[in-house]
Amino acid sequence: MSPSCAGYYVGMCFAASEKQLYSPSQAPDTWRLFLLLAVTLPTVACTLIYYWSWDRWACHPLARTLALYALPQSGWWAVASSVNTEFRRIDKFATGAPGARVIVTDTWVMKVTTYRVHVAQQQDVHLTVTESQQHELSPDSNLPVQLLTIHVASTSPAVQAFDIRLNSTEYGELCEKLRAPIRSAANVVIRQSLGDLFLETFASLVEVNPTYSVPSSQELEACIGCMQTRASVKLVKTCQEADEGECQQCYCRPMWCLTCMGKWFASRQDPQRPDTWLASRVPCPTCRARFCILDVCAVR
Ligand SMILES: [Zn+2]
Ligand SMILES: [Zn+2]
Ligand SMILES: [Zn+2]
Repeated sequence: MSPSCAGYYVGMCFAASEKQLYSPSQAPDTWRLFLLLAVTLPTVACTLIYYWSWDRWACHPLARTLALYALPQSGWWAVASSVNTEFRRIDKFATGAPGARVIVTDTWVMKVTTYRVHVAQQQDVHLTVTESQQHELSPDSNLPVQLLTIHVASTSPAVQAFDIRLNSTEYGELCEKLRAPIRSAANVVIRQSLGDLFLETFASLVEVNPTYSVPSSQELEACIGCMQTRASVKLVKTCQEADEGECQQCYCRPMWCLTCMGKWFASRQDPQRPDTWLASRVPCPTCRARFCILDVCAVR
């Protein structure tokens, strides 16, 4: 703004010559103040930028923040490149509007606002949910939304604590990305996403179903949904007699883990009608035989 203010002042020297602006000592007070600001502000800005750029920008606030994590033999550049590398990975957690973006990578917890970048190292932060706000309406679903405020405090005194905000449905994903658990203030109840809530219920219902013993000749393979854990459920029609009802017998070998089967079950439901989920029937992901929750048996 200031360079154009100075230009404006010069312009006014000609346009309003009766005010004697060309001779600041005789100009009216407000105009003198205006000129003073028009000259001082750019000077301050330039000085600040010059100061920041000193020693390859080592004095810039962001460089100073990063320098807190630099190893003795390297500088803030090394930290910046670590942040960059991890930021490019697709498995990072990112949420929030552009003005208050929250990014969690394997090593870093960051909050990027318009004027400031907060950086903390995962291994020395404590996260605490300090507040939750309930909003009844969300534009993309008719389910209530819960916004959580999480306080990020570092054990290192040089690192300033900061708050991040996110939707409670993203909470599970954030926890997965963090190595340490998030603490919760006593009065805050975190409402899980409908999906998480369902998976919990699904698991507890399957637990009381009869179990299925795998023949000793058969070996359990990795779950084809996530490839992370072994297959742990088999669909066996147990809700009714074999020839009764809508459910069908599935002859597939155990191929899915409980979580993936629960996610599959949830994915076939109407998100607007959670009340119908538990009673519904969905096709087996492999052979399409219809099954209900009573037919999901844990393998032993
Ligand atoms: Zn799985
Ligand atoms: Zn099947
Ligand atoms: Zn059934």
